[in-house]
Amino acid sequence: MKKSAKPGAERVKQGSGPEGICRELGLKLTPQRLAILEYLDGNTAHPGAEEIYEAVSGRFPGLSLATVYNTLASLRDKGRLLELAIDPAKRRYDPDTKPHHHLICVACRRIVDIEHTFDLEIPDALRMGFEIKGNEIGFYGRCPDCKKTDARKQKRDLRQGGAYVRRP
Ligand code: ZN
Ligand code: MN
Repeated sequence: MKKSAKPGAERVKQGSGPEGICRELGLKLTPQRLAILEYLDGNTAHPGAEEIYEAVSGRFPGLSLATVYNTLASLRDKGRLLELAIDPAKRRYDPDTKPHHHLICVACRRIVDIEHTFDLEIPDALRMGFEIKGNEIGFYGRCPDCKKTDARKQKRDLRQGGAYVRRP
């Protein structure tokens, strides 16, 4: 394959960094919005809106939860942020918009990225005429920290997780 003449050109053109993203999305560049974008930049914890609000409002006491939600919605609508529905408790946000999958702990709700391409195919009969563009898989289980917790807690966790863990 032919190498691109300017390796960094695409990143620059897309407007990398929080300020570039604001400009690209036509969002007014406010310090609060920049702080939200900076908090999300490279964040692999898949935070919810309220966690983002908690983290950023320390520096900007005037920040409203509505501003957080509006900023997240703009980023999501422009394809710069993934809104994940894999945690039944709340929407989680992922600045990594490249295709990837997740491990979800049913006890502490930690979400970890899986960078792997699964070779999956749907039989024609089940595809309902859809043209498949991609997939996102959530693997539910217990993380190493939660595996160490006592058996009583484990029973409670499994009841909570039972609603969305399908056992083979
Ligand atoms: Zn856990
Ligand atoms: Mn992710």
